Amino acid sequence: MEVRIQVASSVRRITAHTGLLGVIGYPVDHSLSPLMHNAALEHQGLDLVYLAFPVDPSALAEAVSGARALGMRGFNVTVPHKAAIVALLDRLDALAARVGAVNTVVNDGGSLVGYNTDVTGFLEALATVWPRGASGSRLLVAGAGGAARAVVAAACANGASRVWVLNRTRERAAALCEAAQAWGATPCRIVEAGMLSEAMADADILVNATSVGMAETVKLTPFPVDIVDARHVVVDLVYGSSQTALVTQARAKGIVAIDGKEMLLRQAASSYLLWTGREAPLDVMRLAIRSVGS
Ligand code: NAP
Repeated sequence: MEVRIQVASSVRRITAHTGLLGVIGYPVDHSLSPLMHNAALEHQGLDLVYLAFPVDPSALAEAVSGARALGMRGFNVTVPHKAAIVALLDRLDALAARVGAVNTVVNDGGSLVGYNTDVTGFLEALATVWPRGASGSRLLVAGAGGAARAVVAAACANGASRVWVLNRTRERAAALCEAAQAWGATPCRIVEAGMLSEAMADADILVNATSVGMAETVKLTPFPVDIVDARHVVVDLVYGSSQTALVTQARAKGIVAIDGKEMLLRQAASSYLLWTGREAPLDVMRLAIRSVGS
């Protein structure tokens, strides 16, 4: 039996041979990954489809077993499962093991292998606005969750000269800085109360790796934009249906700023390569999400 679905202007064939990719998260209805991946798969004529699966944290282990049992080719992992899934996989590649978070799973002949493409995704997105990259740079990273871990790991592994971590919960900032000691020679400092101006003045690259800017915090910024200045470049990992408040306010001051869509594209391209062995058509993926924000 064959079902035909209309995708954009062409007709896509789903058959008994079509392989399954997807993303698990909770919630996951805001995800742009199905749009990007299906556009790329269709463009390259690959016999795979990519779907979004909302998975409650209490059902994560069951979902991972299900993915294995169903023979899914692979899947992305998003908030809040990136750390919790580590213990449920058969193997981790070295980078994912070091970061302690997985955003991409590959089914290697029945064995589920975890990868972290957020690390390279961040570095590639950064390079679009800061060609020198993390090397020799000083970063202020707001956040200490899974995304911040990927950013700090990327910075340390690429020879950043200093990382500042600013987080609502101090213990998580401390745990991240402790982990950073194993990721390279980059000194990591916590932004303690009253030290924000000093840290901002020292940093070149300001990264928002918190959830601030999403949902009920959509109008908020993770640090006051009035102390951001023209020396800085701003990389917001958050993206949405409109430009984030951080990016809007920074650009209004003439500061170079990008939201999370470039990193989203770059991490997606690396996941796609892992699943298909093909270089992702970045322009096709970019076009697929062009109408979301700016
Ligand atoms: P997470 O592990 O849940 O961490 C959330 C972080 O945000 C924590 O540091 C948390 O601080 C902080 N936070 C949450 N609400 C806050 C508030 N109201 N005020 C101050 N701090 C707050 O999530 P994650 O995986 O790191 O993801 C963080 C963000 O990055 C999400 O928006 C996600 O969509 C985005 N992201 C984007 C990409 C991309 O490709 N563009 C990739 C990965 C992640 P506490 O420690 O105090 O709770």
